[in-house]
Amino acid sequence: MKVAVFSTKSYDQKFLETANIHYNHELVFFEPRLTYDTVALAAGFPAVCVFINDQLEDRTLQALASQGTKLIATRSAGFNHIDLNAAAHLGMTVVRVPAYSPYAVAEHTVGLILTLNRKIHRAYNRVRDGNFSLDGFMGFDLHGRTVGVVGTGKIGCIVAQILKGFGCELLAYDLYVNPHCEALGTTYVELSELFATSDIISLHCPLTPQTYHLINAEAIEHMKPGVMLINTSRGALVDTQAVIEGLKSRKIGYLGLDVYEQESELFFEDLSEEVIEDDIFERLLTFPNVLITGHQAFFTEDALKNIAETTLSNIKDFELGHPCPNEVSTKRIVAA
Ligand code: NAD
Repeated sequence: MKVAVFSTKSYDQKFLETANIHYNHELVFFEPRLTYDTVALAAGFPAVCVFINDQLEDRTLQALASQGTKLIATRSAGFNHIDLNAAAHLGMTVVRVPAYSPYAVAEHTVGLILTLNRKIHRAYNRVRDGNFSLDGFMGFDLHGRTVGVVGTGKIGCIVAQILKGFGCELLAYDLYVNPHCEALGTTYVELSELFATSDIISLHCPLTPQTYHLINAEAIEHMKPGVMLINTSRGALVDTQAVIEGLKSRKIGYLGLDVYEQESELFFEDLSEEVIEDDIFERLLTFPNVLITGHQAFFTEDALKNIAETTLSNIKDFELGHPCPNEVSTKRIVAA
């Protein structure tokens, strides 16, 4: 099938081309993001392949449909960048990669927790500078600390499993109980109790209208003083301005982010020679107890291999008229 691949980085092209040996799609790679301004690039392509910072809102989907696109294949698990209702109205099919490596994201999450706690990122620079002072590097034992996991699907459950190995007490909040997570000894509680009793809170639920700004001023007010907050899920789960106030008041003791609400303007690009105009993001970077990575939690060889394989297989299913297990329907987003 003829596929326009947007937001292509060299690593995407490498893994997709390798996997395509088994699928024989006609892949055309475009570096730009898919937005209303770039939609003309997809003219004549029955399939477009996109990533999380492509913007598939109503007018872009309408333009795609009028140019002959019938399939949207996202190389991600999340699909909040696609207006599913608009896609359904236009008769377009949306497919995704529901699980490419939950281990990649879970392991990065634990990496953020360990790095923030033991200040490994700061120690790296200090030791290279010949400064062997330990001042400011005091951490705490993870053993015996209470971790609250919000969203115990594939990633949240693996985070719980890893932290169980550290000897943490596990609390969780989800709309549904995950029996695998419960079997680890995780106690499911109300969100308010999780906020009030966790030393570390880690977010692993999807971004939906219900979870938008789940972490806001009110939620922060109910947290333990000095709480560690980790978000490797989606930026808009967190009201960043409220979190900045929480850091300034010392209520939040540590903040680890792999995602940021306005990340589409920043992440995945080298802006080291540019003036960054996002004052909220720049304020976050001034805190010594904030660690931000640029949406790299998924970024392992294993994950990229699985993303490429599943994406091309999804497209093949559509091409052959086979039912695709990874199709996203508007019914599913209502259920999520
Ligand atoms: P999943 O679908 O397996 O699990 C999500 C869980 O969240 C489910 O158990 C669901 O019941 C729960 N949930 C839904 N609505 C909720 C709500 N209102 N409150 C509490 N829980 C709720 O998804 P997953 O594979 O574990 O991924 C979790 C999230 O991680 C994704 O939605 C995506 O946004 C994010 N993600 C980030 C990266 C990265 O590189 N940083 C990579 C992949 C996924």
